[in-house]
Amino acid sequence: MISVRQYILILLGGCLLIFYGIFWFNYHQMESKTNAVITQNIRSSLAEISYFLSKELSDIRDVRAYKAYLDRMAAQNDYIAAIQLAQGSHLVLSTDPALKEVPRREHVTLVSSKETVDLRNVRAFEGEVRFFQQLEEIHLRLFIVLDQHFIRQILNRSLGEIALTQGLPPLLIFAVLWLVLSKTVSWPLEQLRQFAYYKSWIPKITHLREFEAIRASMAQTYERLEEEKKELYALSTTDSLSGLANRNFLDQRLAWFISEASRSKQEFAVLFLDIDHFKEVNDSLGHKVGDMLLVAISQELRHIVREHDVLARVGGDEFIIVLSQYAGHLELTGVAERIIERLAQPWIIDSYKLFISGSIGIALYPKDGADNTSLMKHADIAMFEAKKNGRNQYAFFTEEVNRQIQHSIMLGKEMKTALANDEFELYYQPKVNTESGKIFAAEALIRWNHPRRGVVAPDQFIPIAEKNGFIVELGGWVLAQTIRQQLEWKNTLGIDIPISANVSALQFQDANFETNLFKQIEDSGVEHDKIDLEITETLFLQNSERNLQSIHRIHQKGVSFSLDDFGTGYSSLGFLKSLPIDTLKIDKVFIQDYGATSGAIFLETIVKMAHNLRMKVICEGVETEQQLAYLKSIGCEYYQGYLCSRPVMASQFVDMMKQQNGQKRPPKHNLRVIE
Ligand code: C2E
Ligand code: CA
Ligand code: CA
Repeated sequence: MISVRQYILILLGGCLLIFYGIFWFNYHQMESKTNAVITQNIRSSLAEISYFLSKELSDIRDVRAYKAYLDRMAAQNDYIAAIQLAQGSHLVLSTDPALKEVPRREHVTLVSSKETVDLRNVRAFEGEVRFFQQLEEIHLRLFIVLDQHFIRQILNRSLGEIALTQGLPPLLIFAVLWLVLSKTVSWPLEQLRQFAYYKSWIPKITHLREFEAIRASMAQTYERLEEEKKELYALSTTDSLSGLANRNFLDQRLAWFISEASRSKQEFAVLFLDIDHFKEVNDSLGHKVGDMLLVAISQELRHIVREHDVLARVGGDEFIIVLSQYAGHLELTGVAERIIERLAQPWIIDSYKLFISGSIGIALYPKDGADNTSLMKHADIAMFEAKKNGRNQYAFFTEEVNRQIQHSIMLGKEMKTALANDEFELYYQPKVNTESGKIFAAEALIRWNHPRRGVVAPDQFIPIAEKNGFIVELGGWVLAQTIRQQLEWKNTLGIDIPISANVSALQFQDANFETNLFKQIEDSGVEHDKIDLEITETLFLQNSERNLQSIHRIHQKGVSFSLDDFGTGYSSLGFLKSLPIDTLKIDKVFIQDYGATSGAIFLETIVKMAHNLRMKVICEGVETEQQLAYLKSIGCEYYQGYLCSRPVMASQFVDMMKQQNGQKRPPKHNLRVIE
């Protein structure tokens, strides 16, 4: 099979060949005609001379007398180079003195021979002159020597001219035709072919009707196909009732989530939601109401999940939610709780007031399953667990996580009564001068003496209290307790040192925080500068302007501020310049890392810069003598850590202070306490 291009090429080439064939034939015709005319001329010239000389001559010696006649003859005819007369092979006369020889026989054509000759191959024509000289017949050979240069010029010139006038135009026409046909036929066809194969880009409009019709219909067809494909895809990936994603789409997205999460080593959660008692709605009020309820639920769920989460309906009353990018399990359960809370509210459908609830099972990638099937299966199992536990709740697939979450929930509930039951207690950790080893202040750290669980560390319940808002109340208690303790130590034991209380961002942002603080301080009569508030950088992330003003007002009254856990957040030292921070507390991770160059450089730089900003520096988490020696060497004047003491009960702290005041040399305390 050949292409259109090749076809056109062959067609045009064929035409050109035929044309040149005809041309070549014509040319040869013309050439031989010219040849014949000249030959005829020569023959008649030869005949004329022969006749004239045969008539006039009677003596061979008179031949010279006719040289002028022969010269004229030779000069008149351009194709004659010379006229010669010879007797045998002896040259008698030549019009051209340069030619002194008789032409060789093989180069000579006898005038008597009638055959046609190519003049280019003939040197001369030979005729004869006969006369009687005193009865003796004299026989002379007469030669017309051809001017080959002239003859060739005549014959060949005509070839050149004809080639130029007749050979070139067809070639040009051929080229033009080729270009035109290529552009108008083969190129559009090639475009259409590519379009048909690859649907790459739609070819431009052409001016040939049939091509244009094909092009337009192809473009139209593809466009329609594309639309249909999209529609089909949408149909195949959405649930027609709710408009949510269906199982098909969920499978695709879940596979994508798995590949992403396995690459970034992250966790994500699959929530399996089943509507409790949905069948009853369907059975009692009919499918129409049931469908309307499902649509309403879908819409509400849409508001609860975020943009990047996946929400799909996979069965009658079953929904799957894939959640990623959550800060911790508390945030995750927050979403589950919101869903359950919303479902439990009454639904007004078609003027019926309906009460339903939902059960959610949660499976985590990769812990509970590394592929679509196992994740879905385990979320389903967890959902049944939630149903079994009494519906209207969520359950995790893993026992471990489930226990942890249940534990957090329990703590969250219990902490509210714990305050009334006086289960919280403040422990105190000394703040120490690195040079003298003297305790100069204390940090109050909360503990929960749980009646069943024993002493609970703040890391376990402070985040929960922050999440459920209880921190405001709890923090208020911590502050009051701190103030009370400062006064008690001062008044009864003469130990008058500043005490720091940790204040969480949420607590600080509470509208009443500032007034309550001032009221407590003024009512108790504690000196303002004996109370220090430990805050963290998170305080400046939200509501920064309002918080800043509040910090300034509190600071103006004489209460001091410490910036806790410095180095783990985002703030730069430059930023700190504008804050009334008295003490910088370098987070414990840095001293643990001081052996490494980066850790050491960080510590040194921070100490120097903090001093430039006229801030005190406390290094947290000092556990060894080597660490202490290092801090001394870089001029860090205070520390906190197990090297001096863990956080201890108030009574133990008092013992430490008494010991310090009674002894000259700095003591080593390391009291053993249960935390
Ligand atoms: P934080 O404010 O950074 O407290 C310092 C933590 O480091 C304390 O843990 C303390 O026991 C521990 N620590 C002290 N010296 C060393 C040491 O040499 N090595 C090591 N490895 N750790 C040391 P704790 O008491 O468990 O408190 C943990 C966190 O809970 C506190 O970190 C603070 O953010 C929070 N917290 C504690 N009490 C309160 C409170 O009353 N209110 C608020 N909002 N948060 C509190
Ligand atoms: Ca602290
Ligand atoms: Ca800290």
